[in-house]
Amino acid sequence: MKRAILVLNSGSSSIKFALYSAQGDDAGPLITGKIAGVGRAPTFKARDGEGRTLVEDGLEDIDPSASHGDLTLRLLDWLEKHNSGIEVVAAGHRVVHGGRSFTQPVVVTPDVLQLLEGYVSLAPLHQPHNLSAIKALAKRLAGLPQVACFDTSFHRTQPRVAELFALPRALADEGVIRYGFHGLSYEYIASVLGDHIGPKAEGRVIVAHLGNGASMCAMQGRRSVATSMGFTALHGLMMGRRCGTLDAGVVLHLVQNKGLSVDDVQHMLYRESGLLGVSGISNNMQVLLESGDERAREAIELYCYRAAGELGSLVMALGGLDAIVFTAGIGENSAYVRRLICERLSWMGVELNASDNDRNAPKITTASSTIDVLVVPTNEELVIAKAVRALDSELASAAS
Ligand code: ADP
Repeated sequence: MKRAILVLNSGSSSIKFALYSAQGDDAGPLITGKIAGVGRAPTFKARDGEGRTLVEDGLEDIDPSASHGDLTLRLLDWLEKHNSGIEVVAAGHRVVHGGRSFTQPVVVTPDVLQLLEGYVSLAPLHQPHNLSAIKALAKRLAGLPQVACFDTSFHRTQPRVAELFALPRALADEGVIRYGFHGLSYEYIASVLGDHIGPKAEGRVIVAHLGNGASMCAMQGRRSVATSMGFTALHGLMMGRRCGTLDAGVVLHLVQNKGLSVDDVQHMLYRESGLLGVSGISNNMQVLLESGDERAREAIELYCYRAAGELGSLVMALGGLDAIVFTAGIGENSAYVRRLICERLSWMGVELNASDNDRNAPKITTASSTIDVLVVPTNEELVIAKAVRALDSELASAAS
């Protein structure tokens, strides 16, 4: 029997999972997969460690509105039925919000779960799904050690000035500060930076995580000193569906003059804005890049303008810049988006090598560029698997 760690990343409409060996080797995952279309028409895909398809299922026998919890149990059923040589001995979860309390991964206990429930209002589209996966596993596999790994933890090294809003200070004391997110992705990139740029990894680096959600992190000595997201994952860059940084006066206008309810505004800012809102076509960058529509072109231009602008602000926080890293779906795959962003950074001496950029090479700048620009695939699941292994002794005592 192979002892394995189940890694779960429950997003707003998908559940990504990976199974890693519980032994301390860094070999790739045994199985990876995704349940997509949660709440609409779920589909289920899984591959083995060599990338061979194990299952590709429309899940027609399941209620289309099945919850994240139901689908997590369905995943467990599949793992038990079709992978008899594997025993799940622990689980690790991506949890979006750990507030100020959690600066490290933690073994989930009823007290921890209760604290995490308190952050649901700060991440309404993610936190409830993260927690429902934990609860579903606890119900089915009582005693299974579970570890929560937070997107906010990596940023707790930020100086206070980077965390504060210019609001009455009592609010900061209550926790209305800039937390920052995508920390698991940044932690992975920080862990491999040295392989790419040697000693420069300890210098001033900005990582651009450009996926459906998007943010940037300014690192000095591989630690976060500033980031583009804030109190919630709505702030900062323009994203697939989220607006990013917005004049708060627009929110007041929508409520006071256009009569929108708070729920309507929340829906508009989280689900109907960003690339989708500006293009009126899609939240998916690939679709927009392939569209000849002028609105798609404008949405991409705004996306890149805003990204270059946020990057400029993070250069200020670092007092200069040695390297930029692009990661996640758009950052890893779109040469065009990287080019549009980097063209706006030519004043800093960023000089792309066009052919290396076109083939998503690990380094995409010329030898004379003053700043190295890299393309590094992220791996949040590996960070979680390692955290679970590291908490092994605590897990053993929690299980006994
Ligand atoms: P998530 O935040 O869900 O993990 P991803 O990191 O997978 O998201 O990023 C999804 C985004 O990446 C989508 O906008 C998608 O269009 C974009 N993307 C993926 N592949 C490409 C590609 N080859 N060219 C341009 N964009 C791409």
